[in-house]
Amino acid sequence: MNIRILGAHNCESLTTSCVCFLIDESLVIDAGGLTSSLSIQEQRKINTVFLTHQHFDHIRDIPGIALNLFRCGASVQIYSTAEVCETIEANLLNGRVYPKFQEIPVTKPTVHFNIIEPFEPRSVDGHDILAVPVNHFGNSVGYQISDRQGKVIFYTGDTGPGLSDCWQHISPQLLISDVTLPNDHEEFARQTGHLTPNMLEQELISFREHKGYLPRIIAVHLDTSLEPETREDISALAEKLAIPITVAYEGMRLTI
Ligand SMILES: [Zn+2]
Ligand SMILES: [Zn+2]
Repeated sequence: MNIRILGAHNCESLTTSCVCFLIDESLVIDAGGLTSSLSIQEQRKINTVFLTHQHFDHIRDIPGIALNLFRCGASVQIYSTAEVCETIEANLLNGRVYPKFQEIPVTKPTVHFNIIEPFEPRSVDGHDILAVPVNHFGNSVGYQISDRQGKVIFYTGDTGPGLSDCWQHISPQLLISDVTLPNDHEEFARQTGHLTPNMLEQELISFREHKGYLPRIIAVHLDTSLEPETREDISALAEKLAIPITVAYEGMRLTI
């Protein structure tokens, strides 16, 4: 499985983009820094987008990819909870902010929404995808993605603490986890449904208790302004647990 990290942060700047992963060239998970990271040729290969929740940093490039695919006569399948699909239809692809690409062209609309339910496995584009509820906003989910070679990753999406309910449903070799804020912002992290390195430690201890191992870990969704402090705290955590924890960056490529 080849993973390109197109966006690794929660804020956009000259050097950072919002969370977005491209898997095996055609499957996208969250649509933060999607269109600004790919050529039109690369965007044409995209046929599926899974969204974890409706916050703007995760859905912002849906109008952009829809317009580019519309222009070349292609289409895209968008998968998410009913809440997320309805939010995009009502607020972005609503005929006022952007065209209703879910209705045009009439013969074959550019965008097709697919409602997913947690724990209902989906087989899409050579991958098996399982949505698992996480503790963030509304019905936010994380995704386990498996390929035909037995490679398995889990992306938490945005999440606060309490992932032990998740762990029993997944068995990833790679865990891509929210680590938005540094340790001294724990109260704010709890209020907003995110993790600090200290909070991630508790989740990893619970993972190891449930599963008997720890997966390779990639930290994402770092707050751009607080990244230096968060990186220091992540390094300290990696040392404490004696495991590598990699901080994601835009343009990073991973193969598992
Ligand atoms: Zn976010
Ligand atoms: Zn969020």
